[in-house]
Amino acid sequence: MIKIDNKPDNVLIEKYYKSVVSWFNMTHESFSSNAEALTFRGFINSNLKRIITADFNSLLGIADELYERFPIILESFSSFTFFYNYREIAESIITKLISCNLTTKAGKTAFSEISALAVKKINAVSVNTKSYFLPALISDLKNKTTPAARKEHLLSICDFICGRFMPLIIPDWIMQIPLCFDYKKMDSEILKDLVETLNLKVCPMCNETNIEIINNSKTNTRYRPALDHFLPKSRHPVFSLSIYNLIPVCHTCNSTFKRDQETYLPKHCNPYVGGVDNDIFFCATYFIFDSLYGANSSVKRRIELMASNEALKHNISLFALESIYNRSLPREEVQHILDLCKEYKALSSMMSFEYFKRNFLKFDEAADLSCITYGKLRYDTIKIIEADYLDKM
Ligand SMILES: [Zn+2]
Repeated sequence: MIKIDNKPDNVLIEKYYKSVVSWFNMTHESFSSNAEALTFRGFINSNLKRIITADFNSLLGIADELYERFPIILESFSSFTFFYNYREIAESIITKLISCNLTTKAGKTAFSEISALAVKKINAVSVNTKSYFLPALISDLKNKTTPAARKEHLLSICDFICGRFMPLIIPDWIMQIPLCFDYKKMDSEILKDLVETLNLKVCPMCNETNIEIINNSKTNTRYRPALDHFLPKSRHPVFSLSIYNLIPVCHTCNSTFKRDQETYLPKHCNPYVGGVDNDIFFCATYFIFDSLYGANSSVKRRIELMASNEALKHNISLFALESIYNRSLPREEVQHILDLCKEYKALSSMMSFEYFKRNFLKFDEAADLSCITYGKLRYDTIKIIEADYLDKM
C-alpha cells in the first residue's frame, strides 16, 4: 500500500465539480414526498461541494454527520455497517435457531424458548440502533403461524442484521439516491485527467501492477486503469462521485479483492491518507536466513507483512497482500537482491555499499515508491540485509 502524494490541483477539482453540477439533479418528485426526504435534499444542497471535493478525512467526517442525521441511508445500503456491533448477537441467534429440530416435540419446546429470547434480543438491537426496518420485521412475526415459518423469518432478520440481504421495502427517496449520484454520468475524459495528474506508475494497493494511462496516438485515445470507489458506491452511494474516494488501482485489486467490500467500518486506510512508509514492514528475514544458511526443506518460508496500525492491517487482509507477495515474482525479486548482495563481498574492497546499492541494486532511498514495482519490498529487504546480514553474505 503506497501513499498517493500527488493531489489533483484546484483547476482540475473545479472542473470536476462543475462537470458533476452540470448533470446532478435531486429535484425528482419522489424527493419531495416527505419531510425527511426534504431535509436530506437540503443537507445535500448545502454540502454538495464538500461531498464532491473534500479530502478523504473530511469526507469521513461528512459521512459520520450524514449517517448520524439520516441513519436509514446506512441501514438501507449497508446493514452490515449499521449493525456492526450487533453481528455477533445475530450470529449466535442463527446458530441456536439452526440447531432446533422442529420435527421433534423436544425441538419444538426448545424453539419456543429460543425464539422468545431471540425476539427479546432483536428488539433490544432495534432500540439501541434506532433501526427503521427492524420494528416492521419483528411485527411481521405475528403473521408467521407455524414454528417453521417463525424460524425462517427470524433467520432472515438475523441475516439482515449481518448484512446478508437488503430490506425489501425501502422508501422511494432512498432508492433515488444512487440515481442522483450516478457515477456512470461522470465525464470520462475528466476521470482520465484525474488519473493522469496523480502520476502513479504502479497500483497503490499492491505496488505490483503498472497502472499508467495508455495513450494510443493513432486513434488519439487514452485508456485509464480502474478507479476503485474506496467507500464502495453500492454501500455509500452519496460518496460515489467524491474525488478523493476514487483510487486508481489495478484490475486484480479492484475486481478480485476489493469489489464492494466495506472500508468505512472497520476503518481501512485510504492511500490519499496513509501508506506503507513507516507503518508496514516487509519481513523477509527468514527468507534471507534460509538463503544464507540453507533452507529447512520442511518449511516454506513466507514473506510476511507487518503493520503498525489496524487500518493498514485491514488493507493487507482485504487485498490479500501476503498472498500476493508470496507468488513467484516477488520471491524471485528478493532472491535476486540476495544473489547480488552475495556478489558484493568480492567487490567490497573496490566500492562502498552505498555505491553498490545505487549502481548494482538500482536502489535509490529517496525514490518515490509509487513509481517502482515492489518498491517497498525492495526497500525493506535491502535495509534488513544492510543492517543484519551484510557481513554474513
Ligand atoms: Zn493492485
